[in-house]
Amino acid sequence: MTLLRDRIANFLQAHGPIDVGRFMLLCAAHRAAGYYTANPGLGAAGDFITAPEVCQIFGELIGLACVAHWRAGGSPPAFRIAELGPGNGTLLEDLWRALAVAPDCRAAVRSVELVETSPALRQRQRTRLAHLPLSFHDAVDGLPADLPLFVVANEFLDALPMRQYVRTRTGWRERLVTLDRDGRLAFALHPQELPLAAFDDPRLRHLPEAAVVEVAPAREAVVATLSDKLRTAGGIALLIDYGYDEATAGDTLQAVARHTRVDPLASPGEADLSSHVDFRAVARAAMEAGVAVFGPVAQAEFLKRLGIGLRIARLIQGAAPEVARRLADGVRRLVEPAQMGELFRVLALAAPEDPVPPGFTGAERRR
Ligand code: SAH
Repeated sequence: MTLLRDRIANFLQAHGPIDVGRFMLLCAAHRAAGYYTANPGLGAAGDFITAPEVCQIFGELIGLACVAHWRAGGSPPAFRIAELGPGNGTLLEDLWRALAVAPDCRAAVRSVELVETSPALRQRQRTRLAHLPLSFHDAVDGLPADLPLFVVANEFLDALPMRQYVRTRTGWRERLVTLDRDGRLAFALHPQELPLAAFDDPRLRHLPEAAVVEVAPAREAVVATLSDKLRTAGGIALLIDYGYDEATAGDTLQAVARHTRVDPLASPGEADLSSHVDFRAVARAAMEAGVAVFGPVAQAEFLKRLGIGLRIARLIQGAAPEVARRLADGVRRLVEPAQMGELFRVLALAAPEDPVPPGFTGAERRR
């Protein structure tokens, strides 16, 4: 039993059931006992591992993409780098090191803007990235829009709250978190049914009973705000996450602790809760806000286009055998289809006047 579990149970007792999004938000960001507030365990020694934690080449390639885009855009005298949900700060550390190949580009970086809610992670980022011109924001709407932005977000959107609806014979009922008779957290359905037409997506009308659909208005709102910033400031955003583009994916709520999937209701605040990103919905929110959207392309393809092959070959040359092996293993994890290569995708947003983002082709622009 965790502290947060008790707090949520008390809340449910007093106020009744809550939706899954509210539950996710409490688990992630509760002021005292949320996972990211109190307990964030990113990396091999923690609860879950992300691409930048797997291999330094990931962040380095994002850094090279930053240089490429800066040059393609006519080498503006000043711009800002921003990361949403920078975790341990690993990606930015690797990105910054890679910028050393282009001192003119690095000199044009006016600031590095971090959108981070967790005080514990902010502390880590401050220490690790002490050599960068940092500034912090609680949310995307705090990002300055006076200079072009190069934005990256890896496994950020998946952590934002989403809500679930279960198909009934005649409509939809929202999935809620409640207390069962024994005082345990349990899923339940909203007593009131929504009509079938509640969702305007025709694909959803033909789903069988008990099918689950997920909608993430909070995520879409963040993407819309980010898109507004890009439209005003210029620049691009690379959004990297696991998710789906075509079909609906069903129930994707997952909780991970110590690299193992656990019951999302079992120990709130002690596991990382996330869900798969609906790239179609994200892309639509961005296009409605007036930016160009590219992809998503598979992470493996994206990293290949950014030159992961050349980069690993160069790093391995002359490296000690165990270093070379570690790098090669890391690259394999990033690109192999059975690992992170296919499930993870990259979606790019670009201000209308920006060139096509690095790693994408003009033909991949969504209409
Ligand atoms: N990008 C990092 C970390 C991913 S974990 C990596 O790839 O390793 C998710 C990150 O998003 C954490 O830094 C977490 O604190 C942050 N985060 C989660 N929800 C947030 C929110 N609503 N606003 C801002 N940051 C959030």
